[in-house]
Amino acid sequence: MDFSDSPQEAAYRAKVRQWLEQNRISAEEIDADPVGAARAWQARKAAAGFACITWPKDWGGPGGSQIEQIIFTEEEAIGTTPENLFMIGLGMCIPTLMFAADDETKRRFVAPALRGEQIWCQLFSEPGAGSDLAAVRTKALSAGDGTGDWLVSGQKVWTSKAHLADFGIILCRSDFSVPKHKGLTMFWIDMKSPGIEIVPITRMNGVAGFNEVFLDAVRIPDAQRLGAIGEGWKVAVTTLAHERYAVGGTSGPGWQDLLAYAKERQVGGDDFLSEGDFRASLADLYLMAEGLRHTRNRTITALARGNSPGPEMSINKVVGTRYMMDCATLALEVMGPFGLASDAGSAAAQFRNHFLTSPGSRIAGGTDEIMKNIIAERVLGLPPEVQPDRERPFDAALN
Ligand SMILES: Cc1cc2nc3c(=O)[nH]c(=O)nc-3n(C[C@H](O)[C@H](O)[C@H](O)COP(=O)(O)OP(=O)(O)OC[C@H]3O[C@@H](n4cnc5c(N)ncnc54)[C@H](O)[C@@H]3O)c2cc1C
Repeated sequence: MDFSDSPQEAAYRAKVRQWLEQNRISAEEIDADPVGAARAWQARKAAAGFACITWPKDWGGPGGSQIEQIIFTEEEAIGTTPENLFMIGLGMCIPTLMFAADDETKRRFVAPALRGEQIWCQLFSEPGAGSDLAAVRTKALSAGDGTGDWLVSGQKVWTSKAHLADFGIILCRSDFSVPKHKGLTMFWIDMKSPGIEIVPITRMNGVAGFNEVFLDAVRIPDAQRLGAIGEGWKVAVTTLAHERYAVGGTSGPGWQDLLAYAKERQVGGDDFLSEGDFRASLADLYLMAEGLRHTRNRTITALARGNSPGPEMSINKVVGTRYMMDCATLALEVMGPFGLASDAGSAAAQFRNHFLTSPGSRIAGGTDEIMKNIIAERVLGLPPEVQPDRERPFDAALN
């Protein structure tokens, strides 16, 4: 297998590099207005044909290839970029609208979202429904006043970016008397609607990135329904399939950064690099990184051939998250107590922040255990999990 760029891909990479050099938003601009900078960056990419590169022209995208998208993502990650506030919208919500919304809704949302004019959030998880998402209890009941409107009440949790979002997609229970997968209905929702209260949750890395969202008789017109009444699970499965592409992979400092950092440090007067345990752990990280790289190359090969990637997405998520956590843990060992007290912006602070951020990746977009269930069933051919409540009416299962 040859993983180097073809001449055509190399030319595209050179074009991307040149555009990035000329158009990047500076770190100062990002610090001054992080949300404004994120919107401006998305608008610039959209204008140049570098946003959602694989989207067809009908969706307002440039209709490029998966390989072009991967090349752009790789090059973009090399320098400073604003936080990506659009991943949930463009990676999950808009594809869900493209699957289930009417043409008027698509016209209203798809192109503006692409240009960074809208931030979206995904209102799926609840205190009693995460891995078992079909157990959502947020209820959507008919307003009963002849308008056809719905009144939505309940609680969502872990809703990333809800505090910044203009719109969201929300999974609700519209019928409690049928089995759990059958009584669900999905809507898009205006996050500024009366009856919505958003309470940020601060993560252990100090960032308030996700939220509790309380809904009290929020009125949603029937025109905002996505898919048929009671068919919300089918729509949610589409969102989750897109989520698997959007979430995953690795981020933050890797073994190369750790090696560079360790070269500068000493242990008991000796060079850190001559310390046996450290060398063995670094070698383990290198092996993991290579395994991830080749698994990713399998995904790229499948995409380039027009196939859908298989369960390797789950393998990449489980191992990628473990790699991020192990890099951060080993970095803290190298840093010692200094690691906890280092200045913001320093390499040490980057590792410290990574140590506090990476455990969340084990959970977001499907926990390690759920990914392992997928691998067990789809790769190893083990029998599926027993789900005793699957065919029982949801309200009976509650009692
Ligand atoms: C950073 C971050 C961002 C998030 N953003 C969003 C968002 O924007 N929108 C949204 O809707 N949600 C979001 N979530 C929520 C996320 O989808 C859920 O946390 C996740 O699905 C797990 O659900 P849970 O927290 O309810 O844990 P549970 O499902 O209660 O799981 C608890 C533990 O039990 C294990 N477990 C559960 N079921 C099984 C099983 N069948 N087999 C083996 N083990 C099992 C799990 O692996 C876990 O260890 C986010 C989470 C994080 C961490």
